[in-house]
Amino acid sequence: MLAQLLGLPESPLVTFAGLVIGGLSLFFIAAGLSYWYFFVFRKARYHPDYVPNAKENRRAIKWSVLSIVGNAILTTPFHFAIALGYSKVYWDPLEHGWEWIPISALIYLVITETAIYWIHRALHWGPLYDYIHQPHHSFKVPNSLAGVAFNPLDSFMQALPHHLCVFFIPVHVGVYLGFVTFVTMWAVMIHDRVSFVRWRGINFTGHHTLHHWFGHYNYGQFFTFWDRIGGTYLNPDSDEVKAEVPEGVLRR
Ligand SMILES: [Zn+2]
Ligand SMILES: [Zn+2]
Repeated sequence: MLAQLLGLPESPLVTFAGLVIGGLSLFFIAAGLSYWYFFVFRKARYHPDYVPNAKENRRAIKWSVLSIVGNAILTTPFHFAIALGYSKVYWDPLEHGWEWIPISALIYLVITETAIYWIHRALHWGPLYDYIHQPHHSFKVPNSLAGVAFNPLDSFMQALPHHLCVFFIPVHVGVYLGFVTFVTMWAVMIHDRVSFVRWRGINFTGHHTLHHWFGHYNYGQFFTFWDRIGGTYLNPDSDEVKAEVPEGVLRR
């Protein structure tokens, strides 16, 4: 699919190379800039208590690179199947009418949000946590470099709803690629421990900081409605949080 967009001959190797180059570029630019800005350049403003830990940062980068390369291997069959026309991804924005683009994006969002909430909860279950999800939670107080630091199977399981969705509902290629790119940037943003957005309906940074600190709250992707339904919601402004989470961990 990426080859198709770039006008290159279609092959699994080109797809794999595109996913690796795109993923690594996105990670190093987004996570690198975010870390530099919030934890180095404006450290005094955003994280005055932060003590750089080179070993931990190297570990975050190692898991991120592993995750991106592993994901590229696991995602290539999906993108190749899309390129060969087996999915419902379409290229002409008028094929289903303009009005279908926002409607399909909304359906896509509800499906992926639901699936990812439950997959993430399953990843916190005993053996799945120990063998797959634990590396991501080894960063109890994360920074931007931990945003995509996952066992590749972990990030693939959480990305799978995005890839599967386009085999069941017609989605314009721009909507699909827009979402998978945005979700990577979102992953970096919710680990910088700086909450610009503070609407409780959104799974903003403060919520995800608490996910790392406590380990059993706020499992959502972009929203918190499933956490409210599932009884796993924790408000960053609650008394429990004020009493138990140090100021340096969760900036208010
Ligand atoms: Zn988790
Ligand atoms: Zn995280």
